[in-house]
Amino acid sequence: MGQDHGIDSPLALLPTPLDPCPVPLPGGAALLVKRDDLTGLGLGGNKARKLDALCADALARGCDVLVTVGGAQSNHCRMTAAAGARLGLPVHLVLGGPAPGALHGNQLLMDLFGAHLHHAGIHDWGALAARSEALVAELRREGRNPALIPIGGSTPIGASAFAAAYEELLDQLDALATPVAAVVHTSSSGGTHAGLLAGQALARAAGRAAPPVLAVAVAKDIALDVRYVTDLADQTLAHLGSHLRVDPADVEVDGGWVGEGYEVPTPEGDDAIRWAARHGGWVLDRTYSGKGFSGLLGHARAGRWCTGDTVVFWHTGGTPALFTPDGAP
Ligand SMILES: *Cc1c(COP(=O)(O)O)cnc(C)c1O
Repeated sequence: MGQDHGIDSPLALLPTPLDPCPVPLPGGAALLVKRDDLTGLGLGGNKARKLDALCADALARGCDVLVTVGGAQSNHCRMTAAAGARLGLPVHLVLGGPAPGALHGNQLLMDLFGAHLHHAGIHDWGALAARSEALVAELRREGRNPALIPIGGSTPIGASAFAAAYEELLDQLDALATPVAAVVHTSSSGGTHAGLLAGQALARAAGRAAPPVLAVAVAKDIALDVRYVTDLADQTLAHLGSHLRVDPADVEVDGGWVGEGYEVPTPEGDDAIRWAARHGGWVLDRTYSGKGFSGLLGHARAGRWCTGDTVVFWHTGGTPALFTPDGAP
């Protein structure tokens, strides 16, 4: 895809492996882990897929600088910084929270990749988005042509990469001849969920077995908004040239694992990090994939799946945040 649009080699290393867990889940179901922590770009994560599509679009529009925005330990900002390094584009990042005394985890990497870090001193998503728009206006006044990538890269273009990712998973499952009871993933800005739903609608229309998607929310706003996710999935289908629409009955978001809020660790998330580390050697984080996996374990313990079932956990990454002062469970 990248080659058509001016990216010489794709940013994401695909397909990512589908890794079987050596032990069953509580309740007896088998677990497969879709290793999007291994997408390669700047230590990996789900945003590499979106950035291939988003950066191809930015280059096609003649943009000469990337601007994006996220939380203090944003994986999306870290991978956008790496994408800019790969493509020779300067990158400006508007980050939540104050400037830290020392850079850790994702911020250390953003700086290493040569990005300009703008510590906004605030946390409100709307205010952060406004800050990034002001920065874009300033860059325009300086004669630049900036590409503004919204929080999480969750536009129809970014989400379209996860429609392709769903198909990538189905191809791997075909090779294993394994029917799957659920595809479970961590959801924040909604693009991963919307893309997977678009991929599910396309697969079903093509007559393929299309396993249900269960999104585990790690923030209280967008991820929980079923209407928003459905609309984004429909816009993603339209972007892909499809007239299909997502059935709202297929949109399942579990908001029961957020705890107090985004970036606030939960005991269940910390337990899930330890479970994954000790049973499969997988590294999850406290803000995203640990909470997402805590939802999967919670449903497994409650009996949603049992012996004979297979469940896929989509490991969306997030590992650099472990190496921050409050990052370890
Ligand atoms: C961004 C991110 C997510 C959520 O993806 P969205 O498309 O924003 O919902 C999940 N896990 C990790 C590690 C992320 O960085």
